[in-house]
Order: sequence, then C-alpha cells, then structure tokens
Amino acid sequence: MDSPLELATKSSQRTDARALELVRSVFGFDRLRPMQASAIEAGLAGRDALVVMPTGGGKSLCFQVPALLRDGFTVVISPLISLMQDQVIGLRELGVEARMLTSAQDAGEKREVERALADGSVKLLYVAPERLMTDGFLARLEEQGLTSIAIDEAHCISHWGHDFRPEYRMLGELRRARPHLPIQAFTATATPEVRADIIQALGLKDAAVLVGGFDRPNLTYRIQPRRDLVRQVYEVIQRHAGRAGIVYCLRRSDVEKLTADLSALGVRCAAYHAGLSAAERTRTQTKFLSEDLDVVVATVAFGMGIDRSDVRFVVHASLPKGVEQYSQETGRAGRDGLPAECVMFYGGADFHGWKNLIEHSAREAAAAGVENAGADLDNALERLSHLWGFATGARCRHKTLCEYFGQIFESSAGGCGACDVCLSELAQVEDSKIIAQKILSCVVRCEQRYGAQHVTDVLRGADTARMRQTGHDRLSTFGLLKEHSNHAVRSWIDQLIGLEHLRVAEGKYPTLFLSKSGVEVMRGEIAITFFTPVESKAKKGRSREKGRASEPLVIEGGIQPDPELFETLRELRRAIAKERGIPPYLVFNDRTLALFAAHKPASEEGFRAIKGVGDKKAQDLGPQFLEAIANHLRANS
Ligand code: ADP
Ligand code: ZN
Repeated sequence: MDSPLELATKSSQRTDARALELVRSVFGFDRLRPMQASAIEAGLAGRDALVVMPTGGGKSLCFQVPALLRDGFTVVISPLISLMQDQVIGLRELGVEARMLTSAQDAGEKREVERALADGSVKLLYVAPERLMTDGFLARLEEQGLTSIAIDEAHCISHWGHDFRPEYRMLGELRRARPHLPIQAFTATATPEVRADIIQALGLKDAAVLVGGFDRPNLTYRIQPRRDLVRQVYEVIQRHAGRAGIVYCLRRSDVEKLTADLSALGVRCAAYHAGLSAAERTRTQTKFLSEDLDVVVATVAFGMGIDRSDVRFVVHASLPKGVEQYSQETGRAGRDGLPAECVMFYGGADFHGWKNLIEHSAREAAAAGVENAGADLDNALERLSHLWGFATGARCRHKTLCEYFGQIFESSAGGCGACDVCLSELAQVEDSKIIAQKILSCVVRCEQRYGAQHVTDVLRGADTARMRQTGHDRLSTFGLLKEHSNHAVRSWIDQLIGLEHLRVAEGKYPTLFLSKSGVEVMRGEIAITFFTPVESKAKKGRSREKGRASEPLVIEGGIQPDPELFETLRELRRAIAKERGIPPYLVFNDRTLALFAAHKPASEEGFRAIKGVGDKKAQDLGPQFLEAIANHLRANS
C-alpha cells in the first residue's frame, strides 16, 4: 500500500510506567491496548501523530493520558457540543479536571472556565474548531499553559471523508500559527485517501501514523433482503428486548412510519430526523442517553454524539450510502465491547434511490461550479456499488469490511463466527447457473430497456395488462421462473447487479442491461452461486417474551452475570444518574455492571478490582453498589 501507513508496534512494555499507573488509578483499567500504548508514547514524546482506530477502540484514552501526565494542558477539538459534554462529564466523574468552552455556555460558566485556566488546574480543555482559530485565542491559551492539541473526528477536515465540515478546514492554519505545538489527530475513518489528506491538511510533521485493527469482533453482522420490514425489524428488537438500539431509515417519512408501526407493537421508541424541532431532537437524545427510551428510529442525522456505549443493535432499514458510512453507523453498536448485532435490510430500490440522489447532487454541484464535482460523483458511485456488492454478496462480512479498509482478516477455517455468512444463515440456491441464464436472457429479450420489476414479472409469468400491452407474454422467457416468489427473483437480480453482471442505466429509468461479464454468465462461461437467507437462526431460542428484558451478556472468561442482580444494579445506576443529571453509562457502563453481577464483590478491594472502577468511583459509588450487592446476596441466600 502506498499510503503513509505504519502499523503499530507492540510497545506496551516500553510505555511509561506512570501512564499505566494512571490508567489503573483514574480509569480503572488494568492494561492498555497495544495501539493505545503506542499513541500515548507518541503523545508523551511530544510527537505529531495520526491515530486511526475503530469506534470503541479507545481513542480518548490516547490523548487523555498524556494530557494528565504532561505539564500544562491539552486542547481537544471536537465537532459537536454533545460529544464534548459527554467527555467532560465522564472525565469529571473520574476526578479529572476537564473543561469546555462552547457557544452554548453563558457568561458565568465561561468566566468560571477562565478562572480555572488562570489558576492552572485545567488538564483538558474541549473547544470547537471555529473558536480555536479566532484572533488571539491560541496565543492566550499558550500563555496559560497550552502544550499540545488533540483533534477528534479528524476526518471532518477531509473532502474525501463522508463528513466534511468547513470549520475543520480552518485547522489547517494551526501548524503555521503555532509550529511548535504537537498535534495529534484521531479518526475512525480508515481509507488511505482520508489518512493522507488529514496529514497534509494539518501539516503534520514526521507524524507517528498508528492504524489499529479495524475488525469489531463483538459485532455480529447480518444482511437480508427487505420483505416485511416491520416484522423483520421487530424480530431484531425482540432479540434485545429492553436494551438499547438504533434503527436507521433513509427518509424522514420512513422514520415516521416505522416509529408508528413499532410503537403500535409496544416498542419504547421515538423518531429522530432533521425535520423535527431542535427541542424535540434534544428531548429524544436525552431520553435515549438516560435510558428512558430503548429504540431510536432515525435518519443518519442521529449519530455523532451518541456515545451510549451499551447500544446492543443497529438496524439499517435500507441501504446505507457507502461502506464507510455503514461501518461508522454500525460502529455505534457494542462500544462497551459486549456482543451486539448489526442487521441490514435492503432492496433494489434503495440502490437506485441513492444513485439518483448522488447524481442529482453532482449535477447541482457542477452547475454551481464546484471543483472536482465529476470526481466526487465517480467516487460516491463507486462507494455505493462497493456497498451493494457487499450487501448482496455472500462473503464473510468481517473479512469484507476489513479488506475494504486495506487490512487482512485472519479467521479460522470455520469463519468468523459472527456474520450470517459464516453462521450458515444464507443458503446456496441450487441451479443458480440456470436461473442466472434465464434472468439474463430475459433482460436481453426485453431489449435491455426495462427495469427489474418488469423483468421479474415476465419471468414469473405475470398475468397483467402491461404484459399483454408490451407483448412480453409471448417472449420465450415468459414464465420461466414462475415457481419462484417475487422477492426471490428480485433478490437474484440484485445479486447479479452486485456482481456487476447486470448494470442499471443512469438517469430517469433504471433499466437493466448486461455487462461484458453478464454476457459470459449468460453463455454459461462463468460460474455463479445465488444465496437466499434461511429463516434467521438467531431467532430461535433467543427471543424473549414481549417486554421482558433480555439476559445480561456473557462477559469474558465466560462467567455468567446474575441476571436479577444485573437488573438491580441497572436500576441503581439509573437512579444515581438521575440524581446527578448525567447519562447512566457515565456512572458505570454495562460491561462494568455485568462484571459486578458476575463477581458479586463483597469488599472494597473486590469492588476496586473490577475493570472500569477507578479510585474516585470506588470511593464515590462503592458503598451504594456494595450495599445493593450484599442485599441481593442476603435476599437470595
Ligand atoms: P472511541 O473514542 O475510540 O470510540 P472510547 O475512547 O470511547 O472509544 O472507548 C471505548 C470504550 O472502551 C470505553 O467504554 C472505554 O472505557 C473502553 N476502554 C478504553 N480503553 C480501555 C482499556 N485500556 N481497557 C479497557 N477498556 C477500555
Ligand atoms: Zn464471517
């Protein structure tokens, strides 16, 4: 690969012993992940760095630990106030002196931050990018002890990324304005173009480029054609009853409809999209974060800033826009490292819908004289077809995702064990070759001038006026697949498009035509295998009674948490969070709760030994939790 890629070396042994001690005492973790160790080392050495890690990989620790060990303070740039708020609250719960400066604060709050900066107690200061670059601001911060800069969600600086933000472009001035301040950039977006662009745009010098493993082993991926969407989504929700999840839809109207349908089935859910008022959106987000709401049905407007770490499932009710987006959106599941499920339901119409949308905005951009509009269009279309191939194909999902991001995925002969393909939930279709030949020759018989539904109707021998009108009821391919369902034939056509044997015409009418390889498949020169989902195995034995919370998750070491105790502790956590006005997962995350419910500590030391319990929380929350655990043990003895 010709990108500035340099894989992390295992350097945990060399990491400053002070860093490890701090991670133990403040954060309650017994070790650093290898990539974190390397990043922290770079930070402590005052080196520029680009750190690429998947969501949930633990990026925050990479700048928080050096910030605490270095003199002075670190400025953290983040694109969203909600993201900053979350981190600042989380850090303050750990006893770390973190502050933020945002447009949402009143004069009094800002003065208090100024005071803290003046007395030198601040270690991390979160700031929005547009504020940092205002006149004189940086110089003043430096007088107050600013010694390094961390940029979160750094891909927002890149046009190549999927989340470009103009205010991030201003950060390009940083290096010139303050050449001696080390800059560390962090992102979960892994494509080589974006990486190179970040380094270039920020002017990083001799940067340590650390790229973590992109696989998320705790996520199980499933991808299925959409049939009865409400039922399909409801089944997923049922598998995780009482747990948090996000359902992504393409359009606002889809969000509204699905929210209504799921509510009617008794799901505690709410809608979220850009068409709702800011107050409504904030209310939904707050309810979700404070566990008053299980499921949010949303457009992709709901995303960044949703740091709830115990999201157990992410559903895509239609095709996302590209593999990066899919990876980012599904990445919001299972950030606590516990098992979570990502399910996508797609249809051919999604592909065409996106394609139109992308072409439309490219035409607008070109008309407005935007530079590179043509290249951007090609790029977006290529991403979309990659995703389409991924969705309709039947290769291990983990492997495909890793390879997309330029990494090698190692799995045992039995596969990854965490995707529909490797779990044998997709069945191979017998006679795939003959079916493909029938479909392709039908497209040819229709003179390559009709869309997928019409071709399907011809193949299934539909008795409609349109057939008679077009004379297609007299074609030799009429009724050739009449024993198969509409959805099966559509799904095979989708797979042929995904394999690029069939192509969809650009423009208003999505007519089908054969590619060069399509002609070869039709002639029987290329082998092909179609897949259909078998009734999801995940359903069996896992679904819960309506409304009842599902079991807590098995944690590492295979120790099963006591489900009842887990629920009791969740209640306690909720109550404490309410009292403090913070989201429950910032009290303790699910993983830590599950460990309590498994090990049932009875002493202060036992409590302190659980992963995720630092000094401050042990002191602060230990007595209440120990009491709850003791009460539970007494009641059950
Ligand atoms: P990212 O910003 O990369 O998405 P976070 O920094 O939010 O990830 O961390 C994800 C989760 O991993 C958090 O719940 C965090 O507490 C946990 N975590 C981070 N580092 C460690 C570690 N060394 N050991 C155990 N858990 C960790
Ligand atoms: Zn797999």
